[in-house]
Amino acid sequence: MTLNIPFDNSYARLPKTFFARQVPVPVRAPRLIAFNEDLARVLGVTPGDVQEMAEVFAGNALPEGAEPIAQLYSGHQFGTYNPQLGDGRAVLLGETIGTDGVRRDIQLKGSGQTPFSRQGDGRAWLGPVLREYVVSEAMHALGIPTTRALAAVETGEIVLREGPMPGAVLTRVAQSHLRVGTFQVFAARRQVDSLKRLTEYASARHYPQAEGPMGLLRAVRDAQARLIAQWMSVGFIHGVMNTDNFSIAGETIDYGPCAFMDIYHPNTVFSSIDRMGRYAYSNQPDIAVWNLAQLATSLIQQVEDPEAAVQEATEIVHAMPGLIQQEWLARFRAKIGLTTEDKGDEALITDLLTRMAHNSADFTNTFRALGSDKARDQFVNPEAYDEWADGWQTRLARENDPQTVMNAANPAFIPRNHRVEQMIQAAVQGDFAPFHRLNAVLARAYEDQPDATDLTHPPTESEVVHATFCGT
Ligand code: AMP
Ligand code: MG
Repeated sequence: MTLNIPFDNSYARLPKTFFARQVPVPVRAPRLIAFNEDLARVLGVTPGDVQEMAEVFAGNALPEGAEPIAQLYSGHQFGTYNPQLGDGRAVLLGETIGTDGVRRDIQLKGSGQTPFSRQGDGRAWLGPVLREYVVSEAMHALGIPTTRALAAVETGEIVLREGPMPGAVLTRVAQSHLRVGTFQVFAARRQVDSLKRLTEYASARHYPQAEGPMGLLRAVRDAQARLIAQWMSVGFIHGVMNTDNFSIAGETIDYGPCAFMDIYHPNTVFSSIDRMGRYAYSNQPDIAVWNLAQLATSLIQQVEDPEAAVQEATEIVHAMPGLIQQEWLARFRAKIGLTTEDKGDEALITDLLTRMAHNSADFTNTFRALGSDKARDQFVNPEAYDEWADGWQTRLARENDPQTVMNAANPAFIPRNHRVEQMIQAAVQGDFAPFHRLNAVLARAYEDQPDATDLTHPPTESEVVHATFCGT
């Protein structure tokens, strides 16, 4: 069988200033680690033989119809504007329109230097490639919008990071790689024609009902408000919510030093580079609003009557915290088994979370077990749970089938950070069994799987991972 990707490229038709043509830089000895057949089916991709796929997904062979480009963008990194970022270690091979009618990008990440690489080597090592593969596919299984992983290959080359590491390339699939930073770069350069062109392109591709730049802003706000609430509901911490990592399509994108919380605490930070806690768990809603404000500022540059547009944009941005809160409440209601609404629900939920934080309760396991002794056992002082559960039981009297609601809202499995780290360590030694097992178990995140209870356990003291690294 020959690999066939039915490309239908649109970004490569945009003005030449939007990207740089760039073929992937070949690697020494590509070896296929994983190919995601379920995703391939959605994309309409026909798999080829293993060696052919290794060559293509390493960038050594270009599939027919590919028009490889590195995309231009800029962005705020930790609050400071960087006028030019762009794909420094990735190339977009092209787009396909899937069997579901959705247009998606197929991108190689770790495929060598581009004109946007600055000091970087354009490469990725095995650790972050496998981390992104596992975590992005887990996010998908959790029902959260995300980029996905089509393939991972080893390059047979060494990449220098903290030490010599095995090189790898990830094939990433996204509804698009348009970011807030894609708008910022043209706005900052006062390239109004490009900005208009990009706005029309983004609206047509993602939000065809949206009218004008402010319509796009509103649509991105709504998608991002939902996304952030979903992250919060599973204890996900993105780690680098820079504006270049903030997707216009509303997907989780650019998995770097991300992680899921074990013990619940609102101030949790994992990223080794986030020393001030800017991107801590509980800051994520505020940062999303800040990022949307940057998009608003950029979009306004193309408007004829800026005064009216500033007012409209301000209203759109100011409504975001309330929308995130609504989405948050909807998700957390479901997490405690509620389908009806009551004024006291928000206080009931935050009371539980406060008690969890004071009692070192595991976020995932507490919610999954609510109502049973297993939830109670999560609390250093189990009476703190009992007191809460009394009021909760009274509230549940108005619900028909809370257990079913909770089982669909509270995953049994998340990609726990220590398991991800152990998986990477094994892979570096040539053992990919933990990688494949994690993928298989996480694909059914909401099902109890008795043969995988070890993957529900929080880390022991010696297993705790205190910091995750960007792995760039
Ligand atoms: P990220 O941390 O993935 O959001 O990347 C931030 C910027 O750094 C983007 O422009 C990347 O393309 C660039 N970058 C990250 N790692 C590398 C690398 N190894 N080589 C070249 N550019 C890189
Ligand atoms: Mg990025």
